[in-house]
This record gives sequence, C-alpha cells and structure tokens, in this order.
Amino acid sequence: MVAETRLPSDGHDHGLEARLASVREGIADAARAADRSPDELTLIVVTKFHPASLVRGLAALGVTDVGENRHQEAQAKAAELADLSLTWHFIGQLQSKKARQVRRYAHVVQSLDRDSVVDAFAPTEAEPEPPVIDGFVQVNLTDDPDRGGVRPEDVEAMVERVLATGTIRLRGVMAVAPLDEAPRAAFARLRRISDRVRQLEPAATDISAGMSGDYADAVLEGATHLRIGTAITGNRPLPA
Ligand SMILES: *Cc1c(COP(=O)(O)O)cnc(C)c1O
Repeated sequence: MVAETRLPSDGHDHGLEARLASVREGIADAARAADRSPDELTLIVVTKFHPASLVRGLAALGVTDVGENRHQEAQAKAAELADLSLTWHFIGQLQSKKARQVRRYAHVVQSLDRDSVVDAFAPTEAEPEPPVIDGFVQVNLTDDPDRGGVRPEDVEAMVERVLATGTIRLRGVMAVAPLDEAPRAAFARLRRISDRVRQLEPAATDISAGMSGDYADAVLEGATHLRIGTAITGNRPLPA
C-alpha cells in the first residue's frame, strides 16, 4: 500500500521525498535489469487531482516533468507554477475544442488519438503560425474501443496525419497496459508498433509506457518515458 500524503509541521513532506527516492531506485534497478542506462529514461510524475503545492514540492526535489489529464486543472496548476521551469505533459483524453488551449501551457501532448484532435493543432487562418508542440500518438493495446488510443492497425494513418500538421513534433508512441494481460506482453507489442512508426518518422524514437505498477516491465520493453503517479504522490484525492 502507498502511504497517505500528509504534511508534517515543518511543511516538508518526508513521505513524498521517500517515495520519490524509492521510485528512482526502482527505475535504476529496472534499467540495470534491462541493461540500459537510467539516463535514457524520463520520469514524468503524474500529479492529477493533487494540489499545485504538491507539484511545487516535487520540483524542489528535482522533478522536471509532470503529467496531468484534465485540461482545466492542468491549466490552473501550470499558471500557478509558472515560476518553475517544469515540462508539462498532457496525458488525458483531449477535446478538439481544447487542443489549442492546451498548447498554451503544455509542452507535450501524449494523447493524440483522434483525427479531430490532431487537426486542431494545424495552422488556421486566425493562427497561421502556431507554436510547435511535442506529441505522442496514443495506442490502444486493449480490444475495448472505448479505451483511449488508436487501434494498432490505424497507427500509420494517425502518424501521417500528425506529421501533416507541421505543428506537432512527433516524439513517438504512448500507451497504458490493459488490465487483463501481463503488462510485459502488451509493452512488447507497443515496442513493435514503435518500430513501425520509426519507419515513417525516424526521429519518433520515444515510447511512453509504464505506470506505478508496471514500469519495470515497460523499461524491459524499451520505454523511454515513465508516467508514475501514486507510487510517488500517494493515493490521489477524489476528483473535485
Ligand atoms: C493516472 C495515469 C498514470 C499514473 O498512474 P499511477 O498508477 O498512479 O502511476 C499514467 N498514465 C496515465 C495516462 C494516467 O491517466
């Protein structure tokens, strides 16, 4: 079980520090087991539902990358923490209406999985030269069409569409492991999909995979970006 997050009287969250240290050790161990360098791995701490103060605490502990999955919450936190030079990753389902707003504070959008969302990043008459954002195509590794992500057989078409915008720098693929399958097998499929993507865009070498419960398996299958929440933050408060 993950310990509850509670601030002691000195205002310093020792639990947070200890959990972060333990996950960092776990990542180093996983890298060793996979015969990879930990330098190849970017830790994104998923801070959804947690207050901006927790994100500030993480930044003080050396965290550089954070992940959020709801636009309004992410926008508010990024504004409140604008004095920190954090890299914000948007990892949640995105509405095309919100895409241009997300681009104002997020540096990376990891959940590109619909034509309408991708197209929303393209230049418009009102904004002919929009800023470029980093992007990952999200892949659905389950058989459930209601889960986020494009079907594996549709990845190439989505990649072409992303590249056609001219405003998304394609970094690679992102996925969440299915609940009803050994994560390593699913991450192995993602790795083969990543190989296909690189046939189309050699620079798209990144693989965002692995959460609190399965990041060691993701590292074994070539993940470059780990999205870890509860193992570091403690249990999430209920959504507001
Ligand atoms: C919440 C979330 C995570 C983090 O999950 P934990 O199990 O808390 O580590 C990672 N990726 C996505 C897309 C998420 O929504």
